[in-house]
Amino acid sequence: MVWVEVNLSAIAANVRKVKGLLPPGTALMAVVKANGYGAGATSVARTAIRSGAVYLGVFRAEEGLELRQAGIQAPILVFRPLCPDETAVVLGNSLIPTIDSMEAASSLAQAASQRGRMVPIHVKVDTGMGRFGVRPEEALPFLQSLRGLPNLQIEGIYTHLGTAFYRDAQGRRQLTLFQWVLDSLAQEGLIPPLRHAANSSTLLAYPDSHLDLVRVGNLIYGICPFPGCFKACPLWEGGTCTLQYTWQMKARIVSLKRVPQGTRVGYGGRFVTKRNCLIATIPVGTADGFGLEPAGEGLRALAKVIARTLGLFRHSVTFRGKRLAVAGRIGLQASALDVTDFPEVKVGEEVVLEARRTAVGQHIPRVYLE
Ligand SMILES: *Cc1c(COP(=O)(O)O)cnc(C)c1O
Repeated sequence: MVWVEVNLSAIAANVRKVKGLLPPGTALMAVVKANGYGAGATSVARTAIRSGAVYLGVFRAEEGLELRQAGIQAPILVFRPLCPDETAVVLGNSLIPTIDSMEAASSLAQAASQRGRMVPIHVKVDTGMGRFGVRPEEALPFLQSLRGLPNLQIEGIYTHLGTAFYRDAQGRRQLTLFQWVLDSLAQEGLIPPLRHAANSSTLLAYPDSHLDLVRVGNLIYGICPFPGCFKACPLWEGGTCTLQYTWQMKARIVSLKRVPQGTRVGYGGRFVTKRNCLIATIPVGTADGFGLEPAGEGLRALAKVIARTLGLFRHSVTFRGKRLAVAGRIGLQASALDVTDFPEVKVGEEVVLEARRTAVGQHIPRVYLE
């Protein structure tokens, strides 16, 4: 009744497109956290690896475990700095942990030497995101101390930018700080083989951020990270964005009925029919991510929020290219549509809807188009 169609050849095309923007020495990591941004982590991972990605990125160790259980063998970096209770999963599944504390590093080194294994790690530097990572000035002493631990191989060092949308000063400041860290490490001969800083927006906005590896989520899913594409974007060709759509949520109409003028529809009763209406119901609501799509940023987003609050903006779905307005509030798992002007709408017909991808639960089937 409700499902998501994921176009794997579009994902493959997006991976190749992004790869084409990178210098030959830069590798591509496909970020498949949050169940592959809602598209299904294992299918996206396989497609991305076939299309030129050599690395995978997840947030939690269990997400990496899921990929291993599906038989995926590519290197997998776990972004969330290692928690002690994840050590066994990381070691048992050859995941690559992010390290930003000596405690985590020592317990990992101990577990690794017990097993007689070398473990690759990536060190995270906080250049201004304010979440994970060692501070820039701590990076050099931190790497020096790590060298004193057995069985750890410092394979990578990275940072993450909080903003790169408009090539703003903050983004540039973060990259400059990271470069300063890399220079100070180089002076001590301590440069790890994989230096990385760029996610989707950073790699588009700052070509000098590509380094050895880029971590790409949004772009491979066909999502432009810029609110309102900006003209200097290297993916902008011939007046359009060359990324392909990869994802479409659909639902079937499960009931249809005529209601007289003056009928209240949906929670809160704010929607009252102004005439005799034909109301169709779809079995999808906010619990499935419907109606939660991000408003974006800037003035347009503000206008949207105000319009929604005042009841001026109505959500809608698409039926054979036509817009059907939602009647009343979107429920948790069901929503009504006003289809009075569309007599061709029948029970069982499918509609296309917008949803916040990462809020679409795993219970909703993903249908893969090759
Ligand atoms: C999510 C994430 C990415 C990918 O970001 P996109 O903007 O989707 O490309 C890259 N790096 C880290 C550390 C992340 O958490």
